[in-house]
Amino acid sequence: MKASKFYISTLREAPSEAVIASHKLMLRAGITRKLGNGLYTYLPLGVRSLRKLEEIIREEWNETAGALEFKPTVIVPGEIWKESGRWETMGPQMLKARNRGEQDMVVSPTAEEAYTAIVRDGLDSYKQLPVNFYQINTKYRDEIRPRYGVMRGREFIMADGYTMNADDESLDESYKAYEKAYFRIFKRLGLKIIPVRADSGAMGGSGSEEFMVESPIGDDTLIICPNESCGYAANVEKAACRDDESLDKNGKKHEKTDAAIEEVETPNVFSIEDMEKFFDESPKMFIKALVYRVINSALDLSSCPHAKDWKRVKESSGDYYPLSYACVLIRADLDVNEAKLASALKASEVVLADDEEIRQIAGAGHGFVGPVTAKAPLVVDSSVVKANDDGTMTAMMHDAIAGSGKDGFHIRHVEPLRDFTPFLCADVRTVKEGDKCPICGGTFYSTKGNELGHIFKLGHKYTKSMKVTFLDKNGKAAEPTMGCYGIGVDRTLASIIENNNDEKGIIWPMTVAPFQVCVVPIKYDGKMKEVADKIYETLKSDGIEVFLDDRNERPGVKFADMELIGIPLRITVGEKNLPNVEFKPRAQAEAELVPADEAAAKAAAFVKAELARLNA
Ligand code: ATP
Ligand code: MG
Repeated sequence: MKASKFYISTLREAPSEAVIASHKLMLRAGITRKLGNGLYTYLPLGVRSLRKLEEIIREEWNETAGALEFKPTVIVPGEIWKESGRWETMGPQMLKARNRGEQDMVVSPTAEEAYTAIVRDGLDSYKQLPVNFYQINTKYRDEIRPRYGVMRGREFIMADGYTMNADDESLDESYKAYEKAYFRIFKRLGLKIIPVRADSGAMGGSGSEEFMVESPIGDDTLIICPNESCGYAANVEKAACRDDESLDKNGKKHEKTDAAIEEVETPNVFSIEDMEKFFDESPKMFIKALVYRVINSALDLSSCPHAKDWKRVKESSGDYYPLSYACVLIRADLDVNEAKLASALKASEVVLADDEEIRQIAGAGHGFVGPVTAKAPLVVDSSVVKANDDGTMTAMMHDAIAGSGKDGFHIRHVEPLRDFTPFLCADVRTVKEGDKCPICGGTFYSTKGNELGHIFKLGHKYTKSMKVTFLDKNGKAAEPTMGCYGIGVDRTLASIIENNNDEKGIIWPMTVAPFQVCVVPIKYDGKMKEVADKIYETLKSDGIEVFLDDRNERPGVKFADMELIGIPLRITVGEKNLPNVEFKPRAQAEAELVPADEAAAKAAAFVKAELARLNA
């Protein structure tokens, strides 16, 4: 490709709204241009890298994951979303529209429904399973805060695969095949990936895995075990840790007490710090009680007397409570993780209750919520009461101090399981740096990460709600199980740039570089033109993607553009160096002089070696 025939559109400065390196560089290099909030156009230069990235995913999903590409529409009937139940639960991030026939339509934010509806139609027998399809296609999510350019856009490209399997064993095979494909893809892109399991692999296999890149601008907090032989890594929204003991200020563990609950007048004691001062005791001896508003909980609360007034909605996909409350009990030195809490409550969202709601549920204001008197199901963290495998419960705190449910009073000698009974025992604490690994006991550290991909065992969620059946080996009707597998294509492209740049611009890995080599004549004229053209033609005929900067610009401008765009190798043809030319890999500081008639062969070898290294 010659610059004169291409569209180069570089900017000296990035618009001020771009704050991270990849966003700035994508705009400056002319890879993307903003069309609207969260809406980015790829310019021809960007499309070249984008298509290469898609092709790497395609190759690995075809070969390693054994998948077949299909192409559903982006706009799909609202009907199938109503069947799955997600018409209601997806919330405002799903863009809905009406067509001229007044039919509900959805701009796909993901495609479980479309895939399930398509495969359902032709499915009769176990012999047709598994069905392993993927697409690389446009998605739309009406993100509240699109940011960092294509890292979190509204319209983006997702590579999304789906499998329908006859049984768990088959799903496991599909899942592992995709997992292997993911490692191959990110290796070929030169990205160091942290696989983050949702549950601890050692304890019964994992049902979900996120593929993260470490990044200071990452949206996710990762909890990582430094022990390499262990390898535990989890999103803080899922991370678990070893139990640690509730010890008093002298480091002593308290025994179960026979003393009855005693009210203590505590005027002006509202916070945990106030309590520490007033009782002269460690927060590990206090039970913190928090009232949460719970949205769309699918828990069955019918055994809970406080829930009888809460509205319960009947749905084919299962009953749920649009609005309910929970009183969460946790050791006072710990924090509640709301994602873990929502998951324990099978809810779409949990929000701390406001003052009025707290008063309704607790009979007292913030700071005095009592575990004994709260009028809501008690969700008790395992720091307070632990559920054992055999169905019994063990109190993890004894002789504790807590709110009384009466303004201005606390209570002491609180005995969990004697003075209150959990509705649900769950691990809802926020795991932090310094907590211990549940597998090996190693001391966790924490880092920020960005999710590039996700593999997930869906189970029967969609096949049940959308009524998919097949005849199994014994001729009995059964519901297939499903897996889904997603990679954010734009976000991955941005992450490659985020990880590979310097003050001059992008440093593309060879596998996704828009061009592999650029030839820059200082002046496109006379002998320099002759030599540059020859190198260009030779490389082209050798199948190398070469860019010839034949523009009538100052050399400084051409160098700056080629460095900003990040082409991995530059061959500079200057009068004073002839019969030699400059050979400069973008990632290296120094250029090397090579004879002009050897330059093309050397460049081709360089490109092929780099490709071989990454694709190995
Ligand atoms: P996030 O937590 O970042 O919103 P998600 O859990 O909603 O991601 P999935 O539904 O698992 O994402 O989608 C699969 C992949 O699609 C993600 O791993 C991510 O790389 C990409 N992705 C999701 N939302 C966006 C977005 N708004 N812009 C760009 N890529 C996205
Ligand atoms: Mg999201």
